[in-house]
Amino acid sequence: MKVGIIGTGYVGLPTGVGLAELGNEVVCIDREPKKIDALKAGKITLYEDGLEELFHKNVKAGRIKFTTSMKEGIENADLVIIAVGTPPHPVTKEADMKYIHAAATELAEYLQGYTVIATKSTVPVGTGDDIEALISKKNPFADFDVVSLPEFLREGFAVHDFFHPDRIVVGANTEKARNVIKELYKPFEGKTQMLFVKRRSSETIKYASNAFLAIKIHYINEMANFCEKTGADITEVAKGMGLDSRIGNRFLNPGPGYGGSCFPKDTMAMSYMARQNDVDMTLINAAIAGNTKRKQQMAERILEAVKGIENPKIAVLGLAFKDGTDDCRESPAMEIVYNLLEHKANITAYDPKAMGTACQLVGDKISYADDMYSCVKDADVLAILTEWNEFKSLDLNLASTLMRHKNIVDCRNLINADEAKKSGFVYKGIGK
Ligand code: NAD
Repeated sequence: MKVGIIGTGYVGLPTGVGLAELGNEVVCIDREPKKIDALKAGKITLYEDGLEELFHKNVKAGRIKFTTSMKEGIENADLVIIAVGTPPHPVTKEADMKYIHAAATELAEYLQGYTVIATKSTVPVGTGDDIEALISKKNPFADFDVVSLPEFLREGFAVHDFFHPDRIVVGANTEKARNVIKELYKPFEGKTQMLFVKRRSSETIKYASNAFLAIKIHYINEMANFCEKTGADITEVAKGMGLDSRIGNRFLNPGPGYGGSCFPKDTMAMSYMARQNDVDMTLINAAIAGNTKRKQQMAERILEAVKGIENPKIAVLGLAFKDGTDDCRESPAMEIVYNLLEHKANITAYDPKAMGTACQLVGDKISYADDMYSCVKDADVLAILTEWNEFKSLDLNLASTLMRHKNIVDCRNLINADEAKKSGFVYKGIGK
């Protein structure tokens, strides 16, 4: 199938590479010439495990191309996938639709023959209708259907999740469009549940899923606070809860709050849509407020550990919003760093993949270390903010000889508390 993909970000690029690997002819379109120039030059523009290898393989096979030209990407396509950003509106916090509307308007004039336009971006309910109207207005003779094809990939596991999705949700209002999507996902037949629903249901499934997961994280964080006051251990509590198949053991890791480019914006967008429709969504609103407070609480914990120390040096391990990615958008680690900077903290940070993206956000307001040990050198507290596996292997004895004061605030419960204490640390984990 000939596929045009608009937007080569964290969703568009892995999707493009994955579809090329399945044998489709893919053209990835982005309005940022810098991104397209890099991709054309064989340089991958974001970090995702396993993506680079697959990217080179498919570029070499001629199955994937990159362009800034909408015409080039759309005119021969059987399927156009929209994967542009839907960031929160700066004032209302609803999903800002300017990129979606621009993409729909720009692609309209190049449609030739029957084309399915599939929205992978996370979009408010009713967006499919808006896209339909925009395209018809610009090109009244266009023969097309608009389908909602929400993306559920986890950043850091985008390649894995592309090839092993839990489910594929398709919101299509015509049989013809459904058949095009069925054909696209034929390689997954019998392996993955494909759910065909109304377009508006599909648009809602994405928000309902993300909001549910955000609430689950908020819930376990509140339960961790409870454990801290009562002498229970959240790790044991979460394990006991997770063994109940109705609850499941995923998203029960307490931490510094949820972050990333999806949960914060999607919960706010869902809350906005609920208000617009006069529906009370108290749980989502509680999760949003609680998550903001969570990051402040974590920063306070770190400052508490160095109370009384003059001009303390804070070593931060982890800047990405989670492990396996270089993405720092809405990262709890970054929010905590900003909060610490407001208190004039002296911060040195290390992250295995996200130093470049973090540097674009915070610049030289913090120092960057080349590894864990140069990060902790002369520090008065070590704050672990992202759950990278690498941090679990920190040699605590060595770290304790390098640090000025032996304090660890472990916001991800990565370090064994007993071992830390044996190495002379004052250790503070979460929910213990
Ligand atoms: P991103 O910001 O990484 O990428 C979007 C890309 O679209 C950018 O490169 C931008 O230059 C390009 N773009 C914008 N307007 C364009 C236009 N008119 N023509 C061509 N290119 C254009 O965003 P992302 O993280 O890939 O997210 C995209 C969408 O997918 C969002 O709606 C997001 O909520 C959703 N989503 C993201 C994830 C994730 O893990 N990041 C997961 C599921 C769903």
